[in-house]
Amino acid sequence: MGKTIKGIKEKIEKGEAQIFTVQQIKEMLRNQERISIDDVDIVTTATCGIMSGTAAIMHFKVAEPGKFKKAKKVYLNGVPATPGPCPNENLGLVDIILYGTSTSIENPDYGGGFLLNDILKRKEIEVIIESTDSKTIKTSLTLDKIKTARIIGTRMAYKNYMAFINPSDEPIPSIFNPIPMEGPYKGLSFSGCGELNPLQNDPTMETIKIGSPILLNGAPGMIIGEGTRSTPEKPNLMIAADLHHMNPYYIGGFRTAAGPEIFNTIAIPIPILNKKILANTLITNDNIPLPIADIRDRRIINKTNYKIAWMGDERPSYHPQRCANCEKCLVAERCPTLAFKNTLDLEKCFGCGMCANSCPNNVFEMRTGKVTLQTNNKSIKVPVVCRQSDIKRAKKLAEELKYRIESGEFPIR
Ligand code: SF4
Ligand code: SF4
Repeated sequence: MGKTIKGIKEKIEKGEAQIFTVQQIKEMLRNQERISIDDVDIVTTATCGIMSGTAAIMHFKVAEPGKFKKAKKVYLNGVPATPGPCPNENLGLVDIILYGTSTSIENPDYGGGFLLNDILKRKEIEVIIESTDSKTIKTSLTLDKIKTARIIGTRMAYKNYMAFINPSDEPIPSIFNPIPMEGPYKGLSFSGCGELNPLQNDPTMETIKIGSPILLNGAPGMIIGEGTRSTPEKPNLMIAADLHHMNPYYIGGFRTAAGPEIFNTIAIPIPILNKKILANTLITNDNIPLPIADIRDRRIINKTNYKIAWMGDERPSYHPQRCANCEKCLVAERCPTLAFKNTLDLEKCFGCGMCANSCPNNVFEMRTGKVTLQTNNKSIKVPVVCRQSDIKRAKKLAEELKYRIESGEFPIR
């Protein structure tokens, strides 16, 4: 017999609901524990990774009414945003849409993702408006002055993404690696949290629906539709939430060889209403294929799985005593989240692995997966040189969601 949302809600109210994080369920599976629908009411799933389709819609005051006619160009810390759609003529107000991938006109390493992280950290943001009546307004603001600030993700939580490799001799710059990817077959980058991902645990969207409540970067939000390029085989979601309630740990910038990107973290509960829904949550990384594409044209040329890709450590170990103070520090130059500047800031670290693959003196050590490929009748082992998803952040948000449901703070629908 199945269960109902009403019944699960009653159990939550009585403090009797059996809620597990997705990592707990996978651990139980690996320990060969028996799991039935009587043992599990909700599984909290999550993912964290680069999500290029992220925009912020904001509204704020920049001057007294009548100071300028209408904004033509808007820059926040040098990052261009698109004014509108509302014109706010002569009101001293602007509405803007800011892309998470927008690049600063002053600093090619700084973009929308880094800016949103700075806004959430309550830093002072420099604002420049160029108006249609040829005026330039310079001011500054902090999050409390931004009346409306909502994130809309047009393509989030992609189920089962891809890995990329360069079969050619030429280094290839792309958004899939912090530096031009070296070849032939020198390293592999990949995205996707595999068995933790909400859509991997509910692939036919039995419980994940339009209107379902979710956590986006720690803020309560909602699924507002299917994402762009979503298909039944490779679904993704369109999601919205209020920036004011987000935690800067879960959202930020990520430098790539083709400009700054943005990462987000999403958690979604899966109520276990019947055996089919439970069975879907019992998938593990070894059963989730990871196609490997040629970085030049995204043609699939090989495949592996998420178990192999995610082997190793979640974070690097740091040995500052080994540092030779090189004239040019490759780690500081390459770290995509700017987590290393003389010392390692673990709050900013994404666990991508680039530092361990770059420092010649093993100041950073981190084990990452190695993928075996067949090429030219030879078997070669290719190391993962960059992870563009972060299971540590995903697991943390899955835990946060579990506690919020248990405490009655998060609605189940
Ligand atoms: S590359 Fe390694 S050894 Fe050289 S300065 Fe950077 S951390 Fe130190
Ligand atoms: S793993 Fe290394 S390169 Fe990657 S974010 Fe952390 S410190 Fe930076």
